[in-house]
Amino acid sequence: MIETDHLGEVTRIKMGREYQGRVLYWTAAYLVDGLLIDTGCPHTAEELAGFLEGRHLNLAVNTHHHEDHVGANHLLQQRFKIQIMASRESAPLIGQSPELHPYQELVWGHPIPTKVGILPSQVETESHRFEVVGTPGHCPDHVSLVEMTEGWCFTGDLFISKEPKAMRPEEDIYEIARSMKKLVDLPPEKLILFTGLGNVVEEGREALQSCIDYIQGLSRRVWELERQGLSTGDMVNQLFGRESVLAGLTDGHISSENVVRALLRPEF
Ligand SMILES: [Zn+2]
Repeated sequence: MIETDHLGEVTRIKMGREYQGRVLYWTAAYLVDGLLIDTGCPHTAEELAGFLEGRHLNLAVNTHHHEDHVGANHLLQQRFKIQIMASRESAPLIGQSPELHPYQELVWGHPIPTKVGILPSQVETESHRFEVVGTPGHCPDHVSLVEMTEGWCFTGDLFISKEPKAMRPEEDIYEIARSMKKLVDLPPEKLILFTGLGNVVEEGREALQSCIDYIQGLSRRVWELERQGLSTGDMVNQLFGRESVLAGLTDGHISSENVVRALLRPEF
């Protein structure tokens, strides 16, 4: 399924595989001034290409290598002959076939490896300039695109919500907080977040700061529980009430326990 709407000059394209009448998990791409930011998941590649047919499209950028952000790369290269770019760290990962969990194959699908160019520090379109800001944490190769004049921040999967309660085991929660701080400190008076889940957050700086404060608060609590000798399972119950439902759906790949484990790793 694909749903699109316009937020000023930015077209939001929300995509997700439909299963028994409902969308399993939304992912989003954004089209602005001929620039496509992320390409959705493999299952929705044809729908995205259909939407883009006849529209102004020069270049696509992947914020990171995950399958729900690069899924239509191959098809878009073939059909529209456009250039696709990603960070120096992302490019080799996008160029190889990923190992995915069964739930990832079901929800998003398996991306065809593609050769992408290396992103420069800025991307220019006809009317806008986008700064490429390294924002690792969700994964090491993650970047965000920021249009300073408009205050637009395309944040991929850096910002999920103000209070994330589940994550993948490889995520670095303190690096996520540091990357968010990098965006908070940018010059624009107002930041608008365009997230990889398709949420547009008008009060972007405030939302990022609340997430940073939340992570710092969780960190203090988890280390206190560690001093008290609690197990990670008991810490999950103390901090979140119970394990996230996502843990059951993803065989534990996305879980609250991973948040606790990430908080218990040394900060540097
Ligand atoms: Zn991701």
